[in-house]
Amino acid sequence: MKNHTKTAAIILAAGKGTRMQSRTPKQYLTLENKPVLFYSLETFSKLDIIDEIILVVSEGETDYCREQIIELYGIEKVKTITEGGAERYLSVWNGIKQVSPDVEYVMIHDSARPLIASQTIKEAHKVLINKGACVVGVPVKDTIKQVDENLTVTETLPRNTLWAAQTPQCFRKEVIAFAYNNMYKAIEEARKSGEEVLITDDAMIVEAYGDVRVCMIQGEYTNIKITTPEDIELAKLYMKYV
Ligand code: C5P
Repeated sequence: MKNHTKTAAIILAAGKGTRMQSRTPKQYLTLENKPVLFYSLETFSKLDIIDEIILVVSEGETDYCREQIIELYGIEKVKTITEGGAERYLSVWNGIKQVSPDVEYVMIHDSARPLIASQTIKEAHKVLINKGACVVGVPVKDTIKQVDENLTVTETLPRNTLWAAQTPQCFRKEVIAFAYNNMYKAIEEARKSGEEVLITDDAMIVEAYGDVRVCMIQGEYTNIKITTPEDIELAKLYMKYV
């Protein structure tokens, strides 16, 4: 019998990708004859555990995505295409607002990670249902050093405790909604005192402002985020392994 606890995938494609040095945002670059965005949409849509997909795009890109990606490749389960915000966390929030009321779980994924494996999504989903919050990542291979503004090393961090966070980042909907509400209040307070709040992923919002511990689960090193020009070539190579 199908488990009727519903899950939405929120696929983020509203970034500008300035580090890519390309006029085309990285989610629309071509990877083996298809746009980068196609791959994660297809992987999530084919999984039984995913009930609906919310696609978050930049202003003015909705029609292009609907016609040239969703309709052209016959991607199913896309409930809504919505516009993102200037920062990633604002895009995430716009996506969450579009999720159907009866959805209990959300899995947030960067469209710039086309090589996400179905198996990783399934494992993350199991942990999500068990724990309420989890993030896919991998142990770092390099030694990570902290530097100051002059690039002088201030600290060598203990490598055995460090993981690189990838996506999907997965939360019970009410867990992330609670954390976002607290975060918005904290940002307001920080602004008053002239502080800057830097938010680079969703899990850190739940870590800082949520009421549930975020669990790390091991994914694949091949789940790269296409960020700089050489990553497209690397992705072509890795496609053979996933
Ligand atoms: O910029 P970064 O590489 O961290 O972006 C990760 C993902 O978040 C990308 O898939 C990008 O399209 C998305 N993003 C977004 N809205 C933003 C910034 C990034 O949807 N404002």
